[in-house]
Amino acid sequence: MNDILVDLYSDTVSRPTPAMRKAIAEAEVGNEQAFDDPTVNRLVAMAAELLGTEDAVFLPSGTMCNQISVLLHCRPGDEILTDKTSHIVNAEAGGAAALAGAMVRTLDGIDGVFSAEQLEDGVRAKRRHAPRSRLVAVEQTSNSGGGTVWPLATLGEVAGVAGRHGLALHMDGARLLNATVASGVSAAEFAQPFDTVWIDLSKGLGCPVGAVLAATSDAIDEAWQWKQRLGGAMRQAGVIAAAGIFALENHVERMAEDHANARHFAEALAAIPGIAVDPEKVETNMVFFDVAATSLTAAELCERLAGLGVRIGASSRTRLRAVTHLDVTRAEVEEAAEAVRTVIGEAGSRPKIAETGT
Ligand SMILES: *Cc1c(COP(=O)(O)O)cnc(C)c1O
Repeated sequence: MNDILVDLYSDTVSRPTPAMRKAIAEAEVGNEQAFDDPTVNRLVAMAAELLGTEDAVFLPSGTMCNQISVLLHCRPGDEILTDKTSHIVNAEAGGAAALAGAMVRTLDGIDGVFSAEQLEDGVRAKRRHAPRSRLVAVEQTSNSGGGTVWPLATLGEVAGVAGRHGLALHMDGARLLNATVASGVSAAEFAQPFDTVWIDLSKGLGCPVGAVLAATSDAIDEAWQWKQRLGGAMRQAGVIAAAGIFALENHVERMAEDHANARHFAEALAAIPGIAVDPEKVETNMVFFDVAATSLTAAELCERLAGLGVRIGASSRTRLRAVTHLDVTRAEVEEAAEAVRTVIGEAGSRPKIAETGT
């Protein structure tokens, strides 16, 4: 494999910085599952304050935050309403069905954001024959929707419908702090109507591992039982929680740079013939672009870019996703766009028929 010099595959690829590693090395630790780890205790207190909830629990991953939330809200046979692009639907190995026995009704939102009307239409009438609508889940920002920020007003309308129907509300806040930085709306304001909300530490915040789920004290007590049951209870977890504290103190505001770099990348791509991308839609750190009008598939483009030291992921046959993060500079984003221009230029000069069978 070629060396990757510019990695836009995901914001999960960032490595802990020297300063973060120092915080990790110096962390005070104890037995996390006995509440004796002062660093974990401090991290969860910070997260609860940030998200405006009574309590919070440190978990190994965002996926576990989503799955424990689904387990808190749903009984077998209950239905979750969420956008068709959501991580719970597409990227958690069917966990909602496998663990909670819940089913999912997907909503056809725009860029990962559904409307109050769409939610209203998706809620089942109370009938013995129908599954019970139980939980509404939104992703802030929407990952596969394009890093889209849910407007506060839309969240309020959706929460209104959920409230009228007695549905629980869950926010997958893997990138909630990107939404906060992009919009100026605080994390607590975004999270306010939600019963469960979490943030990922290992995405744009740049930690090696971890996520924090926040809710009422009662809900967090129950989440702890699931954490124990699923094997998420830890020991001297302060070493990873220290990275989280460091990130909350030092890596939040800087995500504005990632957003500016993503926009810059999209603008550079938009100037390349055959690439379809709308820079106006780049609200945070993700750039989705389409290569249907070029002679390459998304996978082919990825492979050739890798040969030039640039890693970008294919999200469908013709669509790619590039994600900026704290290990990518403005100059590197420009190099990546140049690499795309080079590969598309070379491919375009060859007749498409010559590509088959190679
Ligand atoms: C990454 C991600 C998750 C899962 O988080 P992990 O920490 O990777 O388990 C959930 N939801 C969204 C929107 C994500 O992007």
